[in-house]
Amino acid sequence: MSIASQIADIRRRMDLAARAAGRDPAAITLVAVSKTHHAAAVQEARAAGLVHFGENRVQEAASKFPPLRESGTPFTLHLIGPLQTNKVRQAVSLVDVIHTVDRPRLATALREEFNRTGRHLDCFIQVNTGREPQKAGVMPEEADAFIEACRTQYQLPVIGLMCIPPADGDPRPHFAMLRAMAARHALPSLSMGMTQDFEAAIAEGATHVRIGSAIFGSR
Ligand SMILES: *Cc1c(COP(=O)(O)O)cnc(C)c1O
Repeated sequence: MSIASQIADIRRRMDLAARAAGRDPAAITLVAVSKTHHAAAVQEARAAGLVHFGENRVQEAASKFPPLRESGTPFTLHLIGPLQTNKVRQAVSLVDVIHTVDRPRLATALREEFNRTGRHLDCFIQVNTGREPQKAGVMPEEADAFIEACRTQYQLPVIGLMCIPPADGDPRPHFAMLRAMAARHALPSLSMGMTQDFEAAIAEGATHVRIGSAIFGSR
């Protein structure tokens, strides 16, 4: 299937999932995760009407997206992978939204770079809902305090929370946990749901689904 028809299929499934949950499909943003795929695939997806793209590595985003930016085509680039503090400067110059704020040092570095550049990027705080040692994200028991600090102490424009549930098992309790946490802080956005589980994520309130392989093919 072409990228355009894969996108049409995903949009149809997103619409169905939203309606089944009594939600407005227009309130859910499809972030197309283009990691490992070439700029040509991104161009094709952009031509098919996709506006939001996600990359998990700063270096890879830097090799792919500046030409598209220079061509004047509007798009929004989301950083969805772990961000090292030594990459903050490059990331802030390159992307529009950061989904992976998860520790005080990173929050401090972002605050400084936002002040320096005047670019105040929307941020999601990543929560390690499954408490997996190999995964990024603030631990659930520390999340409330960290969210509060990001907003008051670090003064980041926090718009919501992000999670990646464990690969095995039911993702729904993780999505539900994230939703409850966001509600406690009156945060409007939830970045959750990938190719395997985006319909469940939409049922639990996802506002941003991050979909790679179902659009661009397997990696
Ligand atoms: C790769 C990736 C995705 C997309 O995964 P698919 O299963 O290909 O849809 C979503 N979120 C993050 C954080 C990723 O790294």
